[in-house]
Amino acid sequence: MPMTDRDPIFVDTLDTILTSVTDLLGFEVASISLVNASGMMETVAVAGDEQARSALMGHLVEVDQVAEELLKAEHWGPLRFISHDKLEIPPEELAWVPVNLEASDDPNRWHPYDLLVAPLYDSEEQLRALISVDSPVDGLRPAGARLSELEKFIIQTRPAVLNVIERAELAAQVRLADAARLVVREASSELSIERILEVTQTAVTRCFDAFGMWIQAFDQDGEGQNIVHASNGADIRLTDELRRIARVAARMMWDLQDVGVLADTLPSVGVLTSEQEEAIFSFMRTIGVTSMLFIPLGAGKECLGNLVLTRRGGRINWSETEKRVALDIGHDLGRALLNARSFERERRLVEELRELDSYKSNLIATLSHELKNPLTSILGHAEMLEATPELSRSARNSVSSVERGAARMQRIIEDLLTLAHAGDPHAPFAPVAVDLRASVLDTIDMLRVTINRKNLQVDVDASDEAFKVFAEPEGIDRILANLISNAAKYTAEGGKITVSLRQGPRNVRLDVSDTGLGISEIDQANLFNEFFRSTNPAAVALPGTGLGLAIVKRIVERHNGRITFESQLGKGTTFSVVLPRN
Ligand code: ADP
Repeated sequence: MPMTDRDPIFVDTLDTILTSVTDLLGFEVASISLVNASGMMETVAVAGDEQARSALMGHLVEVDQVAEELLKAEHWGPLRFISHDKLEIPPEELAWVPVNLEASDDPNRWHPYDLLVAPLYDSEEQLRALISVDSPVDGLRPAGARLSELEKFIIQTRPAVLNVIERAELAAQVRLADAARLVVREASSELSIERILEVTQTAVTRCFDAFGMWIQAFDQDGEGQNIVHASNGADIRLTDELRRIARVAARMMWDLQDVGVLADTLPSVGVLTSEQEEAIFSFMRTIGVTSMLFIPLGAGKECLGNLVLTRRGGRINWSETEKRVALDIGHDLGRALLNARSFERERRLVEELRELDSYKSNLIATLSHELKNPLTSILGHAEMLEATPELSRSARNSVSSVERGAARMQRIIEDLLTLAHAGDPHAPFAPVAVDLRASVLDTIDMLRVTINRKNLQVDVDASDEAFKVFAEPEGIDRILANLISNAAKYTAEGGKITVSLRQGPRNVRLDVSDTGLGISEIDQANLFNEFFRSTNPAAVALPGTGLGLAIVKRIVERHNGRITFESQLGKGTTFSVVLPRN
């Protein structure tokens, strides 16, 4: 737990204890330092004058260095005294040195570099804190009754200090755990494991006061090759053997719903052999960590990977609260992994389908191009033949049949090329602002001959404003030409066509309605399929390729739009297209 997260009650309690030392026991300065997970001792409470406080608060020193110095200390009951001449590291690195005290070689006098501390160990013999006293008011090294008083005081306050530390840590940890779980749960919406790690790493390492973390995500086939690392920027490379060990261990731990602590000074984890443990410990030494919390990740019965949290320094134990929270996080992260995995599967499938679509479009486009040239030549020759005056009547009939057939083939080829282009996911898409109202009026003009010939009534139901959509102009022309010409084609003489436009907040909606043949329910199911033509004899009798609506649908989809229709046989049809506004 980061020291900065300590709550005020905790700080107040430590301050009260220290003030007793300065006020009642005759020292000018007293301080408490705590061990953090990075193997550092940080001074978190100081009693004394302003100068001492500002020099000591937040002071950091490596626990290992402190432990080494303590080895040379004289044991004064629960206290350790290190005479200034025994100190090996520069004294200012260990603690603040009072400046207003004269150095003296008198063994009874307190030397500015003397060190008097009380190390506090927890029930597992881990060094958790250090109470230091400095600058005795009388200028003498404590002895006799004064020393016994100090010893008594330390013995009495020791459990209270440890208790306060543990309670504060627990409270802060619960707070952080809640925050971490929230972050991890929100990570469920992230679509890749890399992103999940990115967004959860800070919260999770903070919550556990961990040095770093990494996630191993198993492949779908359970092959665990997929390793993702994140350890304070460090590059974690696990050997195949370690990954295998972790995979098997994660499965077992998931079944047991348990987490494992790995540290070479702690009892072994049940699911590993001693060789496996040794392999892990030697890896831990290479990355400079002393303890690891191994957490299986999963959802339901399935184990999907593992999360490893690491620590450096002396705090190798993980509390029961930490283990419980870790397992909960394993569930949350498991769900996030499952989501990421199914998204990845979906993405790959879509990619494959896109490739297939692209292949199909290319094939159609190539074939159509190949057919285009010979067809142009057929049409050209047929026209030449037709112009020959001495052609017999039956030969003339044959030539015009050839011409009609070739013209129909040409239409199909044109449509196929358009279809291939509209359906090609790799085709460049260049939308601009297009006024749908102006395009509708242009299309109706273009179809004027048919409309007049069939005596159709055409109404445009749209306000005078521009209906700007964000689209490709040729695409819009195609959509309108196909829908309005179909309405004109499949509506009997004297019928009515209505084209209406409506503006929504984000879209423009186009409706093309007719009072024509209508479409049977069976035909409705296949309407957008390539080459589909109606089963209605009245409709098949009219010329067409069955490609128009397939093209329209693809163009609409290319624009992120929607096309729907409603139709009743014998009554009429309405096609509705929704396109994004510009
Ligand atoms: P084509 O018109 O070239 O046959 P389309 O793809 O445009 O090809 O249309 C497919 C089929 O849908 C048509 O054959 C026709 O039966 C039916 N259809 C399309 N539009 C209408 C309409 N407005 N009214 C009735 N039937 C229609």
